[in-house]
Amino acid sequence: VIDLFSDSATQPTQPMREAMAYAEVGDEQRGLDPTVNRLLSMICSMLGKEAALFLPSGTMCNAIAIKVLTNPSESILVDRLSHILRLEAGGAAMWSGVVFDQLPTTDGTFTADDVLKALPAPSVYSPPPTVLCVEQTHNIGGGTVWTLAEIASVCQAAHRAGLRTHMDGARLFNAVVASGVPASQWCEHFDSVWIDFSKSLAAPFGAVLAGNKQFIEKARRYKQAFGGSMRQAGIMAAGCIYALENNIERLAIDHENAKFLANELGKIPGLKVLTPEPHSNMIFLDTSGCGMNAESFLKNLQQLGVTMCRMDDRVRAVTRLGISKEDCARAIEVVQQVVASGAARAR
Ligand SMILES: *Cc1c(COP(=O)(O)O)cnc(C)c1O
Repeated sequence: VIDLFSDSATQPTQPMREAMAYAEVGDEQRGLDPTVNRLLSMICSMLGKEAALFLPSGTMCNAIAIKVLTNPSESILVDRLSHILRLEAGGAAMWSGVVFDQLPTTDGTFTADDVLKALPAPSVYSPPPTVLCVEQTHNIGGGTVWTLAEIASVCQAAHRAGLRTHMDGARLFNAVVASGVPASQWCEHFDSVWIDFSKSLAAPFGAVLAGNKQFIEKARRYKQAFGGSMRQAGIMAAGCIYALENNIERLAIDHENAKFLANELGKIPGLKVLTPEPHSNMIFLDTSGCGMNAESFLKNLQQLGVTMCRMDDRVRAVTRLGISKEDCARAIEVVQQVVASGAARAR
């Protein structure tokens, strides 16, 4: 099976497994795991932040960051397609009691003007907005890479209005590789940032939240409260360190493969590639022109050994470690076959 469902499907490679198996470990909850501590200091220097916290998942990073940065009944500004809004079970509302104020977007990006328009005049009526969230790269928006100028502009508008800024950098390193702009330059615009190791960096689990010392001190208390404190977590952290050292540059291969998929699939009559020039490691398709909705398209692909995923009424395919150009070529053949048989049925 050629699995293009998500980059979360990456498997730890043999050398990553070995690094994990032989990791030096200690009690992470007491700050005594040397491998976790090494990972955190690597992250602080890569992201240009004072302090960092190791957590089991990206979702917990978002949950804890919003908990630290807000009070109940405040509002957070998020784009309408963001992961924190669409795919985290309403966690920010559940744990922090905040309201989501949705910014308009089609690709996951928005402008400083959109931010300013979303800010209510101060009054007793409106929930006070306190945090602006930005997702880099943007998942549902199409694997979109914001430009540094766009990020600087929306964060500046937010800071001027007294808000704090938070980056969901689940795939920040895809943006780094796609743009050539180092991680620290993206992060300097944010009070709170996190990156995920279980997506394109291809470790089995782990995420790191970073910010200034005061922010991380508060976050540490919520980590304990949320059940995110761990024990010999060096086993996890060793996979993350291995990923930082070995799996960043190779993201360029995934981006090339996504371009290859977009180009070739774009030649198939009836199939619309919604991301003709993919920014990173994902592409989106509209299958309605081939007489199939996303669901039946996916079922037909699956029967021929190719897995993609449904997002709304669109189909998403993600390239990653473990997916070669040959795999993409095979997937393209299968899509051609599925579309052709759909066309034949329609005749
Ligand atoms: C996957 C993902 C998350 C959540 O991360 P988990 O590690 O799966 O909890 C958050 N934001 C984005 C953009 C993601 O793709």
